[in-house]
Amino acid sequence: MIYRRSSALFAEAQHYIPGGVNSPVRAFKAVGGNPVFVKEAKGAYLYDEDGNRLIDYIASWGPLILGHAYAPVIDAVIEKAKKGTSFGMPTEIETQLAKLAVTMVPNIDKIRFVNSGTEACMSAVRLARGFTGKDKIIKFAGCYHGHSDSFLIQAGSGAVTFGSPNSPGVTQGTAKDTLLAVYNNLESVKALAAANKGEIAAIIIEPVAGNMGCIIPEENFIKGLRELCDQEDILLIFDEVMTGFRLAKGGAQEVLGVDADIVTFGKVIGGGLPVGAFAAREEIMGHLAPDGPVYQAGTLSGNPLAMSAGLAMLTELNNNPEVFRSLADKTKYLGKGMAQVLTDNSIPFQMNRFGSMISIHFTEEPVVDFESSAKGNNAIFKKYFHGMLDQGIYLPPSAFESYFLNDALSYEDLDETIAALSNIAKDLH
Ligand SMILES: *Cc1c(COP(=O)(O)O)cnc(C)c1O
Repeated sequence: MIYRRSSALFAEAQHYIPGGVNSPVRAFKAVGGNPVFVKEAKGAYLYDEDGNRLIDYIASWGPLILGHAYAPVIDAVIEKAKKGTSFGMPTEIETQLAKLAVTMVPNIDKIRFVNSGTEACMSAVRLARGFTGKDKIIKFAGCYHGHSDSFLIQAGSGAVTFGSPNSPGVTQGTAKDTLLAVYNNLESVKALAAANKGEIAAIIIEPVAGNMGCIIPEENFIKGLRELCDQEDILLIFDEVMTGFRLAKGGAQEVLGVDADIVTFGKVIGGGLPVGAFAAREEIMGHLAPDGPVYQAGTLSGNPLAMSAGLAMLTELNNNPEVFRSLADKTKYLGKGMAQVLTDNSIPFQMNRFGSMISIHFTEEPVVDFESSAKGNNAIFKKYFHGMLDQGIYLPPSAFESYFLNDALSYEDLDETIAALSNIAKDLH
């Protein structure tokens, strides 16, 4: 495939935008080469500036679970835009989306809308601290909760890809309140809780991790966290920015059968427009301004265009919950086909899949946490990524990312993807 125009656009972008991109992982640093510039997209396909068609496995990193330019979402946004794009005053559609989200997700009474997953997680932690009167939080190595200061301590994907797990600009003061545990290792959490007894406001976790590749939580791990939080008066925050409205209507809480105290959302809840949200039961949300003392605000929060996209998206998912099964089936089919090809070619790999999240790690050891994920062979990953891209398959440009399937993908698309892998598999050594 030819990427002449993409390369020219990237060169131009680098003059005016740091690294030519507005979010680092887009720049292809982990895989080499120049990023592909998108012109438009429809359903499962991206069309780039050189006229190539790509089968898309990132779906804007998750939001576009029903495919690109999904008609009900686009129509809703267009209609709304004609009536004005922002008012800084309450609108009915905010309540409509809030009501729908609260009915779909277990265990939440109220929800506050923000503009990104980062904002949602940052605000959830402030609320947890305000509610409990405690300062420290526990996070897990390799989990990503957005780019706010408290979370840039061994965060996954972008931060890891660039080898700066502790970003300059994050103060020692901030870092000391973030304690780091090991995913799928309850003992590591218990040890931190014991050493910091009475000081921990919250444990924040991706209940199914997607930012160190897809990592499946061991059942007793998540249940054990819940018990520990109950014993020690710690709030359990599920960061469902990735899993919310993707794994099921009720997200990971529903699928894992574990209740969180605060849940954060992003990605799917905005249907492709900038929306994040955090939610909890009344007792906790009552602490938030203007009802309570914990401050949080936003000029464009609850923006009518963003709300209309979110409402159209969640309405579709709520009315057609079989889509979650259909997506999981497609993901399973893809995984099975790709695994067969890799096995037939004697390439060591691990495949982790949960619902419509999946990742391949080129390593012989099971991938259960950040350390085992980081053992993946990046030289093979680069060949794999570019080999697939050359055949029109767009995968996440980092080994630390989960793929996100969208329901517009057909079985023919999946077969084409498996065939593409088969064409390059013999070179993946
Ligand atoms: C993407 C992501 C975030 C950050 O959301 P942004 O909208 O990029 O700020 C937070 N948590 C998880 C689990 C994510 O996957």
